Amino acid sequence: MEHEKLSGGYIFDIQGFSVHDGPGCRTLVFFKGCSLNCVWCSNPEGIFPKPQLLYNASKCIFDGLCAEACPENAISLLPPGNNPDQSEQVLFLDRSKCLTCATFDCIPACCTGAMNLGGYKIQVDALFKTITRDRRYWGNRGGITITGGEPFFQPEFARELLQRCYSAYIHTAAETCGNIPWQNIAPSLPYLDWIFFDLKHMDPLRHRQMTRATNHLILKNGSRIAKEFTGRLVFRMPLIRGFNDDATNISAMISFIQSTGRNEINILPGHHLGREKYALLGMPYYTENFQDPGQEILQDIKARFDESGIHCYLGNNTPF
Ligand code: SF4
Ligand code: SF4
Repeated sequence: MEHEKLSGGYIFDIQGFSVHDGPGCRTLVFFKGCSLNCVWCSNPEGIFPKPQLLYNASKCIFDGLCAEACPENAISLLPPGNNPDQSEQVLFLDRSKCLTCATFDCIPACCTGAMNLGGYKIQVDALFKTITRDRRYWGNRGGITITGGEPFFQPEFARELLQRCYSAYIHTAAETCGNIPWQNIAPSLPYLDWIFFDLKHMDPLRHRQMTRATNHLILKNGSRIAKEFTGRLVFRMPLIRGFNDDATNISAMISFIQSTGRNEINILPGHHLGREKYALLGMPYYTENFQDPGQEILQDIKARFDESGIHCYLGNNTPF
């Protein structure tokens, strides 16, 4: 088959054998770049749109080879006594220089694997070849799910990959935060079978406190996708205790979903699985004190959705 000349984009991971992000067994492609910055994000390496440096202090032997290789003088080794706990040597990274680094020379210089790259550029052809290695495991229901990050942050790349898969009869799904211009989303819609559309909070100011953006664009896009997208649309809500689990917010969410004419939501309880990645990226982890909502609260919320005619799937219990 003839294909248009396809370009590439930035991703940070490919994971096979997922059974929670769409029907059947799926291969997930994690895109770089997001217009939100949710404090509970479990994939913080997906927020920045380009590859970035990951530094694992537990593998570092402080020999300074990376500092010698860095053309930007971004690395300083501080001897014991020059850091907060006064006892151990530390490596200080000026990450503002790393964000615009073109070489990442520190990574091959490090012999212990303490320095690594988070994310890489890949051409659609190469990505298609890689993910279709899993084809035999997808069965007749599975396929690919693009996620991130925000997949429509790279609209051409997303559209090209989805179109390529769709024309090869591969089931396609996307998970979107919705905070993205409509023109980024629309070109991909004809090549999608399934969309997970995230809803975090119905109050615009509360939404902005925890994600750095209001929900105005998200709700507008959610309504529009519900009308124009002919595939299956499942709303998704990360349940963060003390943020969005109150009765007022759940009522507002029910009213919104009812207004769209769709009737499915998947609630994902907040967790701490991404904690270690914040340290690798040198980012503060603000959600240390978030608690698991617990089964009682989850079942209560599920009952409220179900009673309102909205099928509510809890966590990984997704009978898709
Ligand atoms: S080269 Fe690797 S092990 Fe050596 S100081 Fe740099 S990060 Fe640490
Ligand atoms: S990413 Fe670039 S600027 Fe940052 S430490 Fe490595 S070589 Fe230096």
